[in-house]
Amino acid sequence: MGEKSKTSRTKGFVYLVGAGPGKADLITVRGAEALGKADCVIYDKLANPALLKFARKDVEIVHVPKRIGKGSCTQDEINKVLVEKASAGKIVVRLKGGDPCVFGRASEELVALTKAGIRFEIVPGVTAGVAVASYAGVMLTDKDASSQVAFITGQEAPGKEETGIDWDLLAQFNGTVVFYMGIGNLESIATGLIDKGTDAATPAAVIANVTFPTQRVVRAPLARIHQECKQQKIKPPAIVVIGAVAGGDMRFDWFTDQPLFGKTIIVTRDTAGNADSAGRIIARGGNPLPFATLRIKPLTNSNEFLRTLTRLGRYEWIIFTSGNGVTLFFEAMEGLGKDARIFGPANVAAIGTGTANRLAQFGVRADFVPDVFTGRELGKQLMGFTNLQGKRILLLRSKIASNELVEILEDAGAQVDNVPVYTAVTEKRDPSRLVKDIREGTIDWVTFASPSSADGFFEQVPAETVNSSRVKVASIGPVTSERLKQLGIRADVTAKQHTIDGLLNAIEHMETR
Ligand code: SAH
Repeated sequence: MGEKSKTSRTKGFVYLVGAGPGKADLITVRGAEALGKADCVIYDKLANPALLKFARKDVEIVHVPKRIGKGSCTQDEINKVLVEKASAGKIVVRLKGGDPCVFGRASEELVALTKAGIRFEIVPGVTAGVAVASYAGVMLTDKDASSQVAFITGQEAPGKEETGIDWDLLAQFNGTVVFYMGIGNLESIATGLIDKGTDAATPAAVIANVTFPTQRVVRAPLARIHQECKQQKIKPPAIVVIGAVAGGDMRFDWFTDQPLFGKTIIVTRDTAGNADSAGRIIARGGNPLPFATLRIKPLTNSNEFLRTLTRLGRYEWIIFTSGNGVTLFFEAMEGLGKDARIFGPANVAAIGTGTANRLAQFGVRADFVPDVFTGRELGKQLMGFTNLQGKRILLLRSKIASNELVEILEDAGAQVDNVPVYTAVTEKRDPSRLVKDIREGTIDWVTFASPSSADGFFEQVPAETVNSSRVKVASIGPVTSERLKQLGIRADVTAKQHTIDGLLNAIEHMETR
């Protein structure tokens, strides 16, 4: 039986992957690759769910509960699931916070895999205790202040009978002491060290949720660090750093210094659009709160659209006015076994850089992009760029787009076919939680990237809720701001560049004023 399992070819494979300290893009390239191959992802609470964006859409996801205390019961269960899934022939990614081999009980999982004859690879990750240096400016080593670092588990309090920690040695340690899992025992750790001889004035720092938009840093002398954390309601996961470096230069904390850091920003596009916006907000240190107001409904099965596809070659210009339009167009085309050659000699125009970038993803370079990203400017500037008299133009866009662009092009003498690729329908959500958050003042911004998302949002959230709270409103451009006005909402900022990044720039500008 043992023999057989060793040689079995149907066995799967396990990647033990370090998810990194939190922020999704801090996983390694190898880790992301492994996720992309996975049939099944097993992850615990510390690994950021946003990492699933690297996995296949149909991937099987197994949540395993966080361990409590030292009981090995849950660990046994995890081992069992690992072996079970791999034995079924699956490629399994076991995603573990930070580095899989730092306080991660990797050996127990590896023993189980070895016993079962399952092959594996271990992908390292950035461990939380090291990320505090880069993301909170709490250095671990310093040429003058610290030449040695110790990583300690904080789950074994001093005075405990069976401890693997040499507290006498630690108290005398001339360097940096880093505790993982130390928040619960912080008081006894601090007093234990001081009792054994550490100077009560030794600098200490506690960094919670390192690399997340919710990161918090508390600094105090060792004698007061517990009290300070209690007062500031610091919760795990957190890293405790003790030593001269913990009192280091606060200006190294670039992460929480970002203009959007700590700002909670509601995004109101469709689900995919919100994911895109959320990624951009996180990249600037902000905290996105997605509330999908729309659902994009493709119209690429309509006879009108399908007929248009067979006749693209007759147009001089084909115009896209949104990334959604581009993606749905190409998905439909690929479904028919076609590629970008379908455009033939036609020129392609995009309303802005976002749409142009989406076209580029499908191998098409836009022949024209206006420098102000509205339908009106697209029409006007295209007129200046080329003579439209008698030209055939195809608009591939949303069914509910305004007619202004059509009118401008027709006035310039063009023959315009306006073929809808999709429409947006209002997505109903339960807004009660959001309304409560807005009322309680925990939200900083609500953002609108189109008139229809403004409609969708205010169908569900009363305008009064927004107007009577401290939440600020950001709009992507004049058309959206105008719609907001009609809905009784005054936009605090309207982006000058009508892209999501333009919208976030406008918010940053307000925040740093
Ligand atoms: N393998 C993980 C550690 C797991 S032990 C790693 O390499 O990072 C769990 C402890 O890790 C937590 O109690 C906390 O001390 C620390 N930790 C993990 N993620 C953290 C984060 N984002 N911020 C602060 N501490 C974190």
